[in-house]
Amino acid sequence: MTNITFACPECDTTSRLPLVDSVACPACDWHQALPASVSESQEVQECLVCGCQELFLRKDFSQRLGVAIVVFAALTSSIAWAYHMLYLTYAVLFAAAALDLVLYSSVGNLLQCYRCNTEYRGLAGLESGEPFSLETHERYRQQAIRLAETQASQAKGA
Ligand SMILES: [Zn+2]
Ligand SMILES: [Zn+2]
Repeated sequence: MTNITFACPECDTTSRLPLVDSVACPACDWHQALPASVSESQEVQECLVCGCQELFLRKDFSQRLGVAIVVFAALTSSIAWAYHMLYLTYAVLFAAAALDLVLYSSVGNLLQCYRCNTEYRGLAGLESGEPFSLETHERYRQQAIRLAETQASQAKGA
C-alpha cells in the first residue's frame, strides 16, 4: 500500500493518506493532483507536496521508540549496577542492543523530502532512492533559515 505522510502547506495539519490520484488535506481545501507518471508507475521523482526534487531513502524506524529503549536500558542497567548485579547489568544492555537491531532490520524503507519532510511509503522503485546526505540536508536547512529571515524582515518593513 502506497501512502504519504505530509504536513499541509496551508494549515500545517499532519496526515497520513493512501496515495491514489491526488494529495488532499483533510482539514482544509489544499490539494494537489498526482502527475500521471506517478499514478502509473507508483514512482516518485519529486516531492508531490513542495515540488522539491531531492528525496532521500531512510529506514521507517521510529526514533522515539529507539530512544525509549535506550533510556529504559540505561535506567535498568544502572539500578542493577548499583545493586552489584553485574550479569543483569550486561544482560539488560545486551538485550536492548539486540532489540534495537532487530527492530531496525525488520522495518521497511521510506522516501523522505529534504525540504518539507513529507514521507512516502510503499512506492515502487523505493529501494533505488538515494541515501541521506548531511550536505544536502544542511543546504535545505540554510535555505529555510534564510527564507524565514526574509519573511521576518519583510513583515517588519511592511
Ligand atoms: Zn490543510
Ligand atoms: Zn517536499
